[in-house]
Amino acid sequence: MSAEQGLAQARPASTLRRRTLWSVLVLLVVAMLAMLVWLAGKYETAQVQGRLERDAAEAVSDVRAAFMRNVQSLQALQYGDPTPNSWAIDAAVFLHAHRELVRVEWRDSAMHVRSHVDTPFRTPVFDRVGRGNSQSEVVLACANARRFSGPAYAGSYFVPLTDGLGVEVLELCLPLERAGKLEGYLVATYSLQEVLEGLLARQVTRNYEISFTEGDGTRLALRGAARRGSRVFTAQQLMDLAGTTLVLRLDSWRGAPDLFPNVLTALVTAMSIALVSVMALLGKDTRRRHKAEHDLADALAFRKAMEDSLVTGLRARDLQGHITYVNPAFCQMVGFTDVELLGHSMPAPYWPPEFIDEYQQRQSIRLAGNLPPRAGFESTFMRKDGSRFPVLIIEAPLINAQGVQTGWMSAFLDISEQRRVEELSRTSQERLQATARLATVGEMASLLSHELNQPLAAISGYAAGSINLLQDGPQALVEFGPDLTLAMRRIAEQAERAGKVIKSVHDFVRRRDQVREAVAPQLLLEAILPLVNLQARKLRVRVQIEVGPDVPSVLCDRTMVEQVLLNLARNAMQAMDQPDIVERVLLMRVRRVRVGGSTKWLEFSVADIGVGIAPDVQQQLFNPFFTTRAEGMGLGLSLCRTVVEQHGGALVFEPHVPQGTVFIFTLPTGAVA
Ligand code: ADP
Repeated sequence: MSAEQGLAQARPASTLRRRTLWSVLVLLVVAMLAMLVWLAGKYETAQVQGRLERDAAEAVSDVRAAFMRNVQSLQALQYGDPTPNSWAIDAAVFLHAHRELVRVEWRDSAMHVRSHVDTPFRTPVFDRVGRGNSQSEVVLACANARRFSGPAYAGSYFVPLTDGLGVEVLELCLPLERAGKLEGYLVATYSLQEVLEGLLARQVTRNYEISFTEGDGTRLALRGAARRGSRVFTAQQLMDLAGTTLVLRLDSWRGAPDLFPNVLTALVTAMSIALVSVMALLGKDTRRRHKAEHDLADALAFRKAMEDSLVTGLRARDLQGHITYVNPAFCQMVGFTDVELLGHSMPAPYWPPEFIDEYQQRQSIRLAGNLPPRAGFESTFMRKDGSRFPVLIIEAPLINAQGVQTGWMSAFLDISEQRRVEELSRTSQERLQATARLATVGEMASLLSHELNQPLAAISGYAAGSINLLQDGPQALVEFGPDLTLAMRRIAEQAERAGKVIKSVHDFVRRRDQVREAVAPQLLLEAILPLVNLQARKLRVRVQIEVGPDVPSVLCDRTMVEQVLLNLARNAMQAMDQPDIVERVLLMRVRRVRVGGSTKWLEFSVADIGVGIAPDVQQQLFNPFFTTRAEGMGLGLSLCRTVVEQHGGALVFEPHVPQGTVFIFTLPTGAVA
């Protein structure tokens, strides 16, 4: 399985696994973070609550200590047998120093008030309702005091004031004893509100809402503005007093600072945010990586499909000449598998043994860093079965992503088919030319027979005459010796003439290899002259030849150019074969001309004074098989143009003055003049 196929199949499974892992990770992290934040919040709450409880306990003990001190101070009022008046003066001083007390009374053992003082800080509390209304609490407190033989309190109660408000008060009763005998009572009335205002540390009153409450939560006295947040911490502390119990309540308006209650939580939260951000970045990175993987797999698949569909062989080699890559087309071309080829060094298994030296040399030139021709070069490779085939190789340096050359990449084209087609077309071209020549000869056969008739008739005449003379016996030899010798010489001459005619045809028809050679134009004309003359004599055409002075030789395939000249001469003579044309001249000229600034060209022209070429004929003159003659093939001119163009020249025609046509073609001059 190839890498990209594997990648493609593994993709769904790995995607599922990756998603599951990511979900689990995200869940775990979220759970962990939530727990951390919750624990931090919990810890914070516990801290606040603990401090609140501590502060409440401290507040209770502060109040208790103050109450104790007050009891002692009150007892001090009785020292030295005070008179009601002196007592009142001391009590007034005392009240001045203790705002929490609103009234102090000295009562006798029958609970009658002997003296009393109200606090100077407010209007007397009992003015509106009268002291009588609170008698029961006082009695209760004093009963408690008697029972405990010490200071005792009664439950607090509300006293309405004249200004429409009211005050919660607490009665303290101190039994006054002398030598174990009860002499009276000291009754002090606390204002709970003032207790909160005066007896608590400032720090407590500033930070909390502090209150005395009843068991059901009803507030009796309150200090501190209620700034209620969403979460209020509360601590309640019982304050046991002899005879009664007060509840001190502390409310902290520490409204849930909630998300970031303290540094710890803030730290945890910051770390959580960092963690989540890192996870998000990681996720993004994974997604990008996943996309890159996906794109890469696509690109690989695309490349593979492209390589597999190529008919061009591809091969890569490293700088040491080891094969590092071959595509299927290359393997198919040479018949080796990629396993056999990969890693192989020089000489490669597909090099024909006879070329190994040459190829090695070529490789060393390449590996030395010399660039091959851009258009490629041809070479011969060997298939695994030993058969050779021609290839076109195009090589280019292999440059990696860092811009460093790591080897060579070569593309191969099997050109055996192309070669075969070329060979085929060359053969058919040659065959066509041979056919055209034969056709020409066929046409000339009648002319030939006419031409041969003359020498043959002469030979036959001489031969008959000689036989006649020889019939007279041996003396005839003596008598007519010179005549017979002359007749024999004539016979020989005529036979030679006939032989020449036949040879000229034979020479022309004989197929020769295409070889370019430097030939004097004169020789070309002379070669076709016997054949031209054959027809000229028949058509009563005068043949005129003009070769310019110092005309150099022409570089050409001699047979082919002779064919061109013969064709043109023949066409010219046929054009003049009209009854009304009396003066029939065929003019063949050769001269040096200038083409494109170069003088290395010769111009051949064949002119007639025939009928000329009609415009509609002109259009199709060079089309193969176009002819106006009943016995014509129509191949002559098309062949002429092909031949001239193969030599690099051009064939044109133009009207001849005063009448007829002139065909002109150019050929390059040869090296030898
Ligand atoms: P073919 O000679 O077999 O007819 P060619 O290709 O040589 O074939 O000539 C094609 C035609 O071109 C001729 O049939 C003739 O009509 C015309 N042609 C060629 N040369 C001349 C010429 N010198 N004058 C007039 N017509 C010509």
